[in-house]
Amino acid sequence: QKFVYDFTEGNKDLKDLLGGKGANLAEMTNLGLPVPPGFTITTEACKVYLGSGSEPTALRDEVSAHLEALEKRMGKKLGQADDPLLVSVRSGAKFSMPGMMDTVLNIGLSDASVAGLAAQAGDERFAWDSYRRLIQMFGKTVLGVDGELFEDALDEAKRAKGVTTDVELGAADLKRLVEEFKGIVAKDTGRDFPQEPREQMDLAIRAVFESWNGDRAKLYRRQERIPGDLGTAVNICSMVFGNLGPDSGTGVAFTRDPASGHQGVYGDYLQNAQGEDVVAGIRNTVPLADLERIDKASYDQLMQIMETLETHYKDLCDIEFTIERGKLWMLQTRVGKRTAGAAFRIATQLVDQGLIDEAEALQRVTGAQLAMLMFPRFDEKAKTDLLGRGIAASPGAAVGKAVFDSYTAVKWSRSGEKVILIRRETNPDDLDGMIASEGILTSRGGKTSHAAVVARGMGKTCVCGAEELEVDTKRRRMTAPGGVVIEEGEVVSIDGSTGKVYLGEVPVVPSPVVEYFEGRTDGAAEDADELVKAVHRVMSYADGRRRLQVRANADNAEDAARARRFGAQGIGLCRTEHMFLGERREMVERLILADHEDERDEALKALLPLQKSDFVELFEAMDGLPVTVRLLDPPLHEFLPDITELSVRVALAEAREEAHENELRLLQAVHKLHEQNPMLGLRGVRLGLVIPGLFAMQVRAIAEAAAERVKAGGAPHAEIMIPLVGTVQELEIVREEAERVIAEVERATGTDLRLTLGTMIELPRAALTAGQIAEAAEFFSFGTNDLTQTVWGFSRDDVEASFFTAYLEKGIFGVSPFETIDRDGVGSLVRSAAEAGRATRPDLKLGVCGEHGGDPDSVHFFHEVGLDYVSCSPFRIPVARLEAGRAAA
Ligand code: PEP
Ligand code: MG
Repeated sequence: QKFVYDFTEGNKDLKDLLGGKGANLAEMTNLGLPVPPGFTITTEACKVYLGSGSEPTALRDEVSAHLEALEKRMGKKLGQADDPLLVSVRSGAKFSMPGMMDTVLNIGLSDASVAGLAAQAGDERFAWDSYRRLIQMFGKTVLGVDGELFEDALDEAKRAKGVTTDVELGAADLKRLVEEFKGIVAKDTGRDFPQEPREQMDLAIRAVFESWNGDRAKLYRRQERIPGDLGTAVNICSMVFGNLGPDSGTGVAFTRDPASGHQGVYGDYLQNAQGEDVVAGIRNTVPLADLERIDKASYDQLMQIMETLETHYKDLCDIEFTIERGKLWMLQTRVGKRTAGAAFRIATQLVDQGLIDEAEALQRVTGAQLAMLMFPRFDEKAKTDLLGRGIAASPGAAVGKAVFDSYTAVKWSRSGEKVILIRRETNPDDLDGMIASEGILTSRGGKTSHAAVVARGMGKTCVCGAEELEVDTKRRRMTAPGGVVIEEGEVVSIDGSTGKVYLGEVPVVPSPVVEYFEGRTDGAAEDADELVKAVHRVMSYADGRRRLQVRANADNAEDAARARRFGAQGIGLCRTEHMFLGERREMVERLILADHEDERDEALKALLPLQKSDFVELFEAMDGLPVTVRLLDPPLHEFLPDITELSVRVALAEAREEAHENELRLLQAVHKLHEQNPMLGLRGVRLGLVIPGLFAMQVRAIAEAAAERVKAGGAPHAEIMIPLVGTVQELEIVREEAERVIAEVERATGTDLRLTLGTMIELPRAALTAGQIAEAAEFFSFGTNDLTQTVWGFSRDDVEASFFTAYLEKGIFGVSPFETIDRDGVGSLVRSAAEAGRATRPDLKLGVCGEHGGDPDSVHFFHEVGLDYVSCSPFRIPVARLEAGRAAA
């Protein structure tokens, strides 16, 4: 096994092994772009280290061999006294985790080599400043020294000299500071700062390995659903310096605008600075376009390289570069993160440019991005009180109370407040505060600052670099131009699409993408909104390719109509118990509690016309399309009065000597029916079997409604679905009765209704005996909510609020199995039941109607196992259509 790859040996497809940064450095090297030479230690080496606590034995020799080759190529040795080779040691995992892991620069500097660097660079101040930075960075990240100790010493040095910026410190000051920093290291760690260059390097490599399991990194991975066992690669790269004077500098750039997708020059440049200064947002940058004026040759070369990269990667790339005394170096590139809207626009732009085809365009967007575009935004017509303006860093409309530190953000959001986190700039320590906030506002830093990059990744609204807003985190307040002061707790609204910041709550309006799906705007029209046009096109790519049909879970005509506008091809689940919520709940209660036949028949008679008229409306809204009506499936506790409440009422009435016969009777009945595990109790088909006439009434309502629609010239396609079946016998009994009722209605109305009858597969036993069940079912619909509940033995109503957080933290699963289908467990039952069902009945129709039907990852799974349709809530239909298209592309 090979643990180290030279940049010339890798390529962009080796991200698993070399991490994103390493793979792309290799790709750029092989494209002939100016990349400082170096090599990458694989994620495999990291995994060995994390698993065993020590580096693989072969690693040391491999690193030595590559270092030697690098030294030969550069004509100098690591840390060589008269002309030191210096390297950076950078983390780089398969998935980008901006700022979450460690990096150490200037490795190789020591008491011995600092003078050599000064002589070579002809700049003593630069050499001491680099050494100072090394001890600080190394001390903090590798040796675990409290970073504030260095910051304080640096501040003190400036104060003593009466200056305010680092640049005003001279070589002698920095030399003194280096001594002080070494003292801090010795005192804090009980050991001297290592002078041996190779030891520095080895310790830095180990620190990078370990930073994979740092708290920040773990939190970020959980948030971004990045698996915890991938490990990071380590890139050892020869240093180039952007801080060697005004003809040096460093910057970041995008090959097109990551917020809109527009082509142009987008990026930030910082003269006479090192890379970390830009990303940290510590000093204010100039727009990349200014580089043309500062250094035309480098600018032209950079533009050329960006074009090369875009054409090569066929996508938006972001890059980091450094100019060292007029020579351009590429330090990083990757396919760039972008806003959801830009993803759709870029995908269609690239199709138009002939760089990618439609199938590839589908892979460039995700259902999650589409979902984000369906969020509301601020009402343009609303009266607003503009406080100031920053950079539109991550779109969306966020309203909340101003908080000025992450701790408060987390605390307030836990107690149910919506908050906007306001900081001068954010750093990785703010991650949990950012997660807890509706949006993030910073007064410094550009589109590539930490706040912007992380917020975009999380899909959070962010406005950054609002310089006219003066943020005072100590006094927990922000001052806007004109002296308006916003104190902690005051409501502000931020618009991540325009960069505007408002005082108070600005009303929000629906998104143009939703307006389009609603059919209120025409996505094909010449003058349609650019984003809407792009979404329209991508949706047509998806619809043209997908094999899965998409249906809606809807129980009323209004939802059904919306679902249809959103592209639903029928209803996959009408939960009839939802038709008895509110005022009608009592009718079901009466039915369940009836202890005489007469009482029961009366209750059923009262329900029939209500059911029928509901169905007529539903069939009308979905005319011509299938509507799966599920017979009553209430876990009893959802329909009966609460036993404790009722007991209290009875006890009170008794104490007050008030009449309470009815309550008492009800209480006795509720006691009789009370279940310890209502979810496993008298519900679904079981209820239909023990309450005579219940299912017959529902079937009659369905059949009569269908007959009425036929007579009105409609084309109803009702499918009757039996819930919670565990054995084919249950189904057979219900089927016999249903067929009898249907035949009766057909005879009486002179219609041929062609109703089909099927079942839900939502119990393990049903899945395991699917071959038998298919004998009595014309279709299966997988109820993955109950199936997940019963396969895992997790109460679907309780666990997410109780121990799931612990499970997620421990990495037992990366996402709740109620949200994304558990492929290995629940999924494998779905797969085998589908196969067994089709073996019995080759034309068996297969669908899914659990919550998973609208979940992007699950949709791909259902495509893979060959279902005919997924059914989900109306609002998720566009997402399901898109993902079904992506799965098939
Ligand atoms: C299911 O169990 O997945 C399902 C769709 O039924 P319900 O959620 O109504 O129990
Ligand atoms: Mg169910």
